[in-house]
Amino acid sequence: MIGTATTIAAAAAAVAASCRWNWWRPKVSGLAALMYHKIGDYPPGSKLKKLWVTEEDFRSQMLWLKDHGWTTMTFRGLRDAELGKAPMPEKPCLVTFDDGYANNYELAYPILSGLGLKGNIFLVFDTVGRHNAWHDPASESWLRMVTWDQVEEMQKSGVVEFGSHTVSHRNLASISLDDVSWELRESKLRLEDKLGREMVGFAYPYGAGAFVPEVRERAREAGYRYDFSIKQGLNPLPWAPESGPLKRLLIRGDDDMFDFDLNMTRGRARF
Ligand SMILES: [Zn+2]
Repeated sequence: MIGTATTIAAAAAAVAASCRWNWWRPKVSGLAALMYHKIGDYPPGSKLKKLWVTEEDFRSQMLWLKDHGWTTMTFRGLRDAELGKAPMPEKPCLVTFDDGYANNYELAYPILSGLGLKGNIFLVFDTVGRHNAWHDPASESWLRMVTWDQVEEMQKSGVVEFGSHTVSHRNLASISLDDVSWELRESKLRLEDKLGREMVGFAYPYGAGAFVPEVRERAREAGYRYDFSIKQGLNPLPWAPESGPLKRLLIRGDDDMFDFDLNMTRGRARF
């Protein structure tokens, strides 16, 4: 009887694990765009712990990419490969960071640089050198953002390319289309003026508006080649803008390496 109970318990555990982990999904391939926000230890009282990936976990994940044959790219590198100016790697990967926190420079940049990897950071123009003013400090204390000096250093190194995450991190699905256009165009112009590079990448704040046709049309009109949603998954190649905004893989602070493996090979780690 004990054996039966054990078998039932084991079966129940297996079912639970199957829901939590998508090992049973078919393997998929394509362009992987990892989505990070904050690197480091979450501050006391944080209600957004899952958006923090520790320095150690980030290093392990970057080493995993290297060990498993993924090629990390900048937006520009991806565009060159799309245009045939460079070969498209067998396993192309974009390591992206939303918002532009100072911890990206302090903790992620040295790891990327040390391992010979590339990353991409979406900046909120008005907050560079300041703090994440769009954010409600009741859920987590305000955080320092990268400074222009740090941005310039990272760009010069060739390790990090920058993209836009609007001027002020407004929800593009809840403002007028004129304001949407202003956020999209103005952030692109200002970043290009400041950095002397074309901004080809854009990420929708909160993922909002990515699947609202009028909003996405404005992003296309503003001239971004790559617009990134927060929809989970890998992107089949070749990718065409007409197929919709790029999907990403949310890397959570409570993910383990098995979750990471599932994200990269199945396009998702959780149900
Ligand atoms: Zn954001």
